[in-house]
Amino acid sequence: MGRRARETAGEAEGLFDVADLVAAAAPAAAEEGRAFRDGPEAARLLRVAEIHAEPAAAASWRGRQIIARFPGARLVGTDSHWRIPHLHGNGGNVERWVRIKSETLVLGERASLTVRPNGRSADWIAPGLSNGCAMACAYCYVPRRKGFANPLTVFTNVERVLGALGRHIAATGPKREPNQCDEKAWVYDIGENGDCSVDDLISDNTADLVHAFRHWPTAKASFATKFVNPDLLRLDPRGRTRIRFSLMPPEDSRLLDIRTSPVPARVRAAADFLDAGYEVHFNLSPVVIRPGWREAWGELLQRMDDVLPRRVKEQAAAEVIMLTHNEDLHGVNLGWHPRAEELLWQPGLQQPKRSENGALNVRYRTAVKREAVEALTALIGARAPWLRVRYAF
Ligand code: SF4
Repeated sequence: MGRRARETAGEAEGLFDVADLVAAAAPAAAEEGRAFRDGPEAARLLRVAEIHAEPAAAASWRGRQIIARFPGARLVGTDSHWRIPHLHGNGGNVERWVRIKSETLVLGERASLTVRPNGRSADWIAPGLSNGCAMACAYCYVPRRKGFANPLTVFTNVERVLGALGRHIAATGPKREPNQCDEKAWVYDIGENGDCSVDDLISDNTADLVHAFRHWPTAKASFATKFVNPDLLRLDPRGRTRIRFSLMPPEDSRLLDIRTSPVPARVRAAADFLDAGYEVHFNLSPVVIRPGWREAWGELLQRMDDVLPRRVKEQAAAEVIMLTHNEDLHGVNLGWHPRAEELLWQPGLQQPKRSENGALNVRYRTAVKREAVEALTALIGARAPWLRVRYAF
């Protein structure tokens, strides 16, 4: 049976030959060329000097591709991508927080292939192909359990992850009722613990996911991003991937979103991504309460209204998420970015919340949060009335 025939049969069953999906994706990505990935801007973000790799990850096809991309990097074996004492357990690494993100890469095999229900940013949280990120947002929740360093971990067992997704999508069947996540498709968040746009600078993991979702008519991929990677414009997602540009007032972003693309560039990129076949939404988060925050958000919404063309506005929606923080991360951040903590750590406005894993998180007090959500929702109604708010909390 030829590839197209197999795809058609697979589509009917909701199942696919995953090896074929990956094989079909990889040459396509290679043919398309990766001008940005190989250019100076990407090199400024990533100067990989050290790769920690689990043996199976290093031996895998994807792992070998990644290692070959960084021929000058020192390869270090590790038993577990999750616990590398020299990295995660070394308190001295806090001072090198940003540098480690640039110079260190971890390769591992994803153990859990569970698809979790969500209902907010997406219907389902997919098992992602990365954990951590080369950017350094001070509020990022990913390092909360990682200790003193949060380098980018890339998972190399792509076929197993795509297989798990395909089986879940087949078992779930079509969406019968529209909901705030999507009218017709089940939405799978593929980037819960990383940034797929940056992952694409390392390997074709994001391309493989985007291409796989083209073949799943009942499902849609979705990821939030703070990085404009023009290489993603070449992936031809055919409407089956939703990119959510994360936005906050530029002055907050310059302090809190270290190493990300400037906010105006993210707004400007929206039309290009729509024209390239993505659905484009916005992730208005985290909302950080500080003197003048309402005015700053009002200006951002006005800028969106001024800059975005009608075709973007007609399909756009947004999620609004208030800041949450974490006591241990607050302590770590004081070691590398104390100015950010002046904004993020506001005990007078925040209340503790013990998470399921026992960590002490904080969020804005109930009344403070309610009032802020109402204020921002009203600002959206006044400055960007075309922007449907999918949810705000
Ligand atoms: S871009 Fe996302 S994953 Fe990366 S540091 Fe920022 S919040 Fe964390």
